[in-house]
Amino acid sequence: MTIKNAIDTPWSDRLKAVQQRIELAARAVGRSPDEIRLLAVSKTFPADAVAQVHAAGQLAFGENYIQEGIDKIAALQSVRGELEWHCIGPIQSNKTRWVAEHFDWVQTVDRLKIAQRLNDQRPAEMAPLNVLIQVNIDSGATKSGVSPNEAEALAQALMRLPRLRLRGLMCIPDPQPDWQAQCAVFRQARDLFDGWRAQGWAIDTVSMGMSADLEAAVASGATMVRIGSALFGQRSYSPAV
Ligand SMILES: *Cc1c(COP(=O)(O)O)cnc(C)c1O
Repeated sequence: MTIKNAIDTPWSDRLKAVQQRIELAARAVGRSPDEIRLLAVSKTFPADAVAQVHAAGQLAFGENYIQEGIDKIAALQSVRGELEWHCIGPIQSNKTRWVAEHFDWVQTVDRLKIAQRLNDQRPAEMAPLNVLIQVNIDSGATKSGVSPNEAEALAQALMRLPRLRLRGLMCIPDPQPDWQAQCAVFRQARDLFDGWRAQGWAIDTVSMGMSADLEAAVASGATMVRIGSALFGQRSYSPAV
């Protein structure tokens, strides 16, 4: 289902439309929709929009810009306990403290140095920080993410850090020309995850798929999709990914 006139469509309907896409995609391949979590990517949209999507029933939100995310977390402090905030943007060393002190998840860890800092800076009174390793699954030359070959060593090092909890991996493949190509790339990410799980690792999350390719991601084994524009509408500016 597409929402033609997003501006006039109530948040609850937009949320339902996205949930329906997930459900259809899951059922089409015999998966239970319950296996797939929706992360609402609220970057560039105001805290007020987040509050309304939360009121419609959504609990997990993703932000790319750390400062922007922290501002929204603060604005929604009264419902902090109900919300789960994910950092999904690039993290520079000088920003790790902000992430460690404010977010529940970080999906973009691709270097041990960053992981170490997040571990050291995670406040003792907070639960361990949930972490996904960002894998450059289609080996884009200029992209963030650890290469698939190096991902396992990073994962092993990360599992030794007591204030972090490794939950799995995430990827942001380049747009692919067709369904087959989309699925082939997503499948590589799922295979990598399955290989880790086969070693007995207690991980549960493969974060992949965005507004344009969520169906292929779900068909290929995603357990979390990150949806921005299909839920919030077109962004008036695009932050760097
Ligand atoms: C913006 C963004 C999304 C959501 O993209 P849409 O195409 O708007 O759904 C998902 N993941 C990351 C890492 C993003 O930066």
